[in-house]
Amino acid sequence: MTSINQILFEKSQQLIPGGVNSPVRAFRSVGGTPIFFKRGLGSKLWDVDGKQYIDYINSWGPMIVGHAHPVVIKAVQEVAENSLSFGAPTGLELEMAELINTLVPSMEQVRLVSSGTEATMSAIRVARGFTGRNKIVKFEGCYHGHADALLVKAGSGLLTFGEPSSAGVPADVAAHTLTLEYNNTQALRELFSQVGDEIACVIIEPVVGNMNLIVPHMEFLQTLRELCTKHGAVLIFDEVMTGFRVHLGGAQALYKVKPDMTTLGKVIGGGLPVGAFGGRKDIMSCLAPLGAVYQAGTLSGNPVAVTAGIKTLELIQAPDFHVKLAAQTKKLVDGLVAVAKETGVVFSAQSVGGMFGLYFSEKCPSSFAEVMQSNKPAFNQFFHAMLEAGIYLGPSAFEAGFVSAAHSDEDIAFTIEAARKAFQSVAAM
Ligand SMILES: *Cc1c(COP(=O)(O)O)cnc(C)c1O
Repeated sequence: MTSINQILFEKSQQLIPGGVNSPVRAFRSVGGTPIFFKRGLGSKLWDVDGKQYIDYINSWGPMIVGHAHPVVIKAVQEVAENSLSFGAPTGLELEMAELINTLVPSMEQVRLVSSGTEATMSAIRVARGFTGRNKIVKFEGCYHGHADALLVKAGSGLLTFGEPSSAGVPADVAAHTLTLEYNNTQALRELFSQVGDEIACVIIEPVVGNMNLIVPHMEFLQTLRELCTKHGAVLIFDEVMTGFRVHLGGAQALYKVKPDMTTLGKVIGGGLPVGAFGGRKDIMSCLAPLGAVYQAGTLSGNPVAVTAGIKTLELIQAPDFHVKLAAQTKKLVDGLVAVAKETGVVFSAQSVGGMFGLYFSEKCPSSFAEVMQSNKPAFNQFFHAMLEAGIYLGPSAFEAGFVSAAHSDEDIAFTIEAARKAFQSVAAM
């Protein structure tokens, strides 16, 4: 019998390239048919054929309070009745700006956009306008959305396809983007000693979540901060994924390193399209209508989207929210490591706040090259065994995982039991 899921995927492929609206969703890396969903509640998802899953993707991060949280849904319904958009300012945008500024004080001024891609693209334009320089620096395996200049040695979906870069990006656009190895302090020092005074900005995922999870070395982050200050380059923390997830104040609060600019997305919209970029007032003043750097958006600051974000940011300020989230995520990771050990499968795992990384390798990687050495066939076997058991993980060995506040002790225990069998199937490969 053909499932509804199978029919939807076949029909979608006729009209939508690859049947999906974002490449990783297509399951190309792990093989098989992507799951089409119809409902979510708390930590659970249900697909179009009625099968239940525990969700460890959480829409790639935004659903940090769980799916269909009643407070968020009610607020969205109420604000929607007052019209979906004005293309003019609302008090909600001010409320959001105040919230961002309170939670992430380095963002002295902020502008709202509709995606993480827009946030990083615009932040780089501002940094270039502010410094009058062209060169930008990024790190291998970090993903900053799909703007041309940032699709150079990027992570996420691009890694899944084994492509270092995208076709359609002119070489002369990419030529201004310099790429370094993550966590390599020496290479960073060398680059700055050569061209430091030509660098407009350095953009970095302060915890990487787009080549699986990579934790920064403190010395690396601190050196980066010092070099940017010394050479007048703008340090941009791309906290689209880490913002409000690794800590209430983002990775910059967790590691106590203050960037000049920050980009946000994912959690900030609570599941609706919101992004933001902001930072030092002198830098942000370069933006139109105050300054000469142009940036705009018809739906920027959309009232419905911003409301979902505000309610989500209110909920995550509950006492000990992040302490509990981090503890629950660590419980998952420790449990997985323990059952992998029992089955003799080479496996490691780690977590930062509500983000986690699973690696079929001896130890947790700290660079792109190390991530690439993990056992991809083992991951794919594990992924499919878990999916069968109703555990929805990211469909690629190069994606991080996400836990929400709705994940209960029972969810974690169920997941670890399912993993025991999945690891056994890996051991039998
Ligand atoms: C997801 C992500 C982006 C892109 O955000 P979109 O909303 O998908 O455009 C940028 N940077 C990082 C670190 C991300 O994780």
